[in-house]
Amino acid sequence: MPFSHKIVFIASEMYPFSKTGGLGDVLGSLPLALRDMGVDVAVISPFYGRLSTGDYKLRLLVSRCPVGYPWQPITAEIYRADYHGLPVYFVQRGEYFDRRFYYNTHDGDYFDNCERFIFFCRACLEWARRMDSAPALFHIHDWQAAVTSAYLHYWQKIDPFWRNTKSMLTIHNLAFQGRFSSRLFENSGLPPEAWTQDGVEFWGDFNLLKAGIAYSDMVSTVSPTYAKEILTPAFGCGLEGILSKRKADLRGILNGADYSVWSPSNDRYLPCTYSPEDASPKAECKKALFAELDLNPQIEDRPLLGFIGRLRRQKGIDLLITILPELMTMNLGVVVLGEGGLEHEATLMDMMERYPGRLAVRIGYTEDLAHRIQAGSDIFLMPSRYEPCGLTQIYALRFGTPPVATNLGGLSDTIIGYPNPKCTGFTFPEATAAAFLKSIREAVAVFDKPALWEKIKRRAMLTDFSWERAARRYLEVYRELGVDV
Ligand code: ADP
Repeated sequence: MPFSHKIVFIASEMYPFSKTGGLGDVLGSLPLALRDMGVDVAVISPFYGRLSTGDYKLRLLVSRCPVGYPWQPITAEIYRADYHGLPVYFVQRGEYFDRRFYYNTHDGDYFDNCERFIFFCRACLEWARRMDSAPALFHIHDWQAAVTSAYLHYWQKIDPFWRNTKSMLTIHNLAFQGRFSSRLFENSGLPPEAWTQDGVEFWGDFNLLKAGIAYSDMVSTVSPTYAKEILTPAFGCGLEGILSKRKADLRGILNGADYSVWSPSNDRYLPCTYSPEDASPKAECKKALFAELDLNPQIEDRPLLGFIGRLRRQKGIDLLITILPELMTMNLGVVVLGEGGLEHEATLMDMMERYPGRLAVRIGYTEDLAHRIQAGSDIFLMPSRYEPCGLTQIYALRFGTPPVATNLGGLSDTIIGYPNPKCTGFTFPEATAAAFLKSIREAVAVFDKPALWEKIKRRAMLTDFSWERAARRYLEVYRELGVDV
């Protein structure tokens, strides 16, 4: 049987094999949604030391795939797994990927990230070069995969194999760019003419995400509002210039949620399940969460505010920390699950000691607890300073946990703010502590009007951001590129 795939996703994470955030979730669902629509799609991702391989029939496919970067005769191993019928390939080279973390430790980024991910991209291309026919499209994701399109662009000039292959970059977060010293450009194998302002050069540095923006045939990001925001200096992270040049090829496609994983009606991590038709068991989930987190049962009938996410400025965790003392005077509970900035982690742990029974903080990355917080909280907090799409608020809606969120990026594309008659949550105009607190107060006031609260909760639970809709949009864009799907 000829070996080829029409569309190949290249990404540094894919749930359930690997995940640090939304990127992993997207890769765990979009390719499957496309496959369900009959598209011939495959994914290729790094084989990390902490890969969760489950029983997905992982097997070694190629033991020595020559990569030729950063030196000859370096090779990669290529593995293959089956994820519900979706072919998933892995690039393995122990010295690059067999590490405790994916991209960084608490001390900062791994020093050789540039080398690691150029190696990854080049290995993906070398592996695809072994196919009987080239993929029609490489759909590449974020800076770790972005430079693939630059190689493709130049290799198309010398190798007819690649002649008809297109590339599309999806940006999940513009702030992470893979910016490195110009020195690392020198042995990248890209030609000197790539070193321009319209190419990979960025203020004297080598910028991998910029390479993807410059050389991909199409660029997309994960919500319509963020697609507009990134053309402005406030959100463009310095790349607004080149993005504006590519405006005609820039699309904003809202992410979906995988409701087979994130739905209270079939969630395997919850003590009980519930649905919009009968949401009363949500109270049981709350009770169990109170017990799990040692929260004071006396405030169980008061609102429980949940936060799940990276403890970074982007997510507004500092805003939450600022208003926590005020919140603690309001007869309610707060739960925070996250990891990230050491300073934020330490501050939150200190605060938990100050407010026992009312503030629960769990530092770390715990998939199952994230589900139980979604279900057991009443109000979900998302005071992001920018948010390309955001998935946790989409999950919160489905779990009947109306979000309080900044009105920007994907948050404004997914939440209808009170007092709109169709509201599903609460939004505030800018990420400041005062605006955030005001919005929480508003939400708590509505929580105390049970009939109104139930209506909002139910509407939130009925929102539908399934991947099927998003996958259809991607198909349209693939067709714009001339890919026959
Ligand atoms: P990001 O900007 O980090 O990609 P998203 O909202 O798009 O944010 O996606 C975050 C994903 O990561 C969600 O699935 C969320 O539940 C998960 N997540 C984030 N932090 C944690 C954590 N500390 N423990 C468990 N899951 C987490």
